[in-house]
Amino acid sequence: MEIKEYVDYIVEEVKKIMAINSPTGYTKEVANFVVDEYKKLGYDASLTVKGGVFVDLGGEDVDDGLVLAAHIDTLGGIVSQIKSNGRLKVSPLGGMNPNNAEAETVKIMTRFAGEFDGTFQLNNASIHVNGDYDDTKRSWDNMEVVIDEDVKSKEDTEKLGIMVGDFVCFNPRTTVTSSGYIKSRFLDDKLSVGILLGYAKYLKDNKITPKRRIYNHITVYEEVGHGGAASVPDGVKEMISVDMGCVGEGLNCTEKQVSICAKDSRGPYNYDVVTKMIKLSKENDIDFAVDIYPFYGSDVDVALGAGHDIKHGLIGAGVYASHGYERSHKDGVLNTLKLIIEYCK
Ligand SMILES: [Zn+2]
Repeated sequence: MEIKEYVDYIVEEVKKIMAINSPTGYTKEVANFVVDEYKKLGYDASLTVKGGVFVDLGGEDVDDGLVLAAHIDTLGGIVSQIKSNGRLKVSPLGGMNPNNAEAETVKIMTRFAGEFDGTFQLNNASIHVNGDYDDTKRSWDNMEVVIDEDVKSKEDTEKLGIMVGDFVCFNPRTTVTSSGYIKSRFLDDKLSVGILLGYAKYLKDNKITPKRRIYNHITVYEEVGHGGAASVPDGVKEMISVDMGCVGEGLNCTEKQVSICAKDSRGPYNYDVVTKMIKLSKENDIDFAVDIYPFYGSDVDVALGAGHDIKHGLIGAGVYASHGYERSHKDGVLNTLKLIIEYCK
């Protein structure tokens, strides 16, 4: 199979992963799915105690280990109050922004009574009725989930089995255009989980044993800041976050490229790691861009913060409109996969 064909596998995996809601703190089902996908490829994947997925992909030198990390948790919401009108006030999970969550359909996942449909709306959302519609700031305080059930009071909603603390999952609306664009919420970072699965499949199909021991860590709780804090095996010298590459004004990267991050909000990435990535991209016709990310933290930042003595890097396919309705491209996936293959040789 040519490397290009792995992109098709990755896109199919991403669609399946997107179909399983996984706001941060509610990731059990998707993690089990990812474990099974690694097992189908012939790997011995297992869950970490806090609910991530850890896989040893093999490789000779255990004392020069490399962890590739991508996160499976996403933004979302959690019910903070059942209002007197029976509708739900929501508290955000991670950096979910109410502006671009407006009018999105949601699933409310109850603990004991199944799931319910709803829509996240501005309070009093009919423009023919609400004279302040245009001027109202979209915030978590003046927006609500309208439940698609016959509820008019707090008691009605409670009778359904909906409770404070239930998770609210926003519809990802995943679609892939004939021109190769991948559009969805939560490409950050489910797109990269697909890419790591694609890399694992590539190693298996081609019976490649890397020189250094390679691990995949599909983390959870990245969106709240402690995804990569644990589960770094002895002998690991390097950790690379495979997470969304920033695209926007003043930056170089497009959705068709692999982004190599030189610095994020926390500080610079390891000099040798970044230099090697640039060099390998140039030598292997990989379409890349180097950028500084102004508002960004990664799993490997967190691993260093937790006290691990490692070299760190961050790459990923370019993603536009991050934390909103995001867009990437199959070429960005391909370039990211190619760079991982070269880097881990
Ligand atoms: Zn991310």
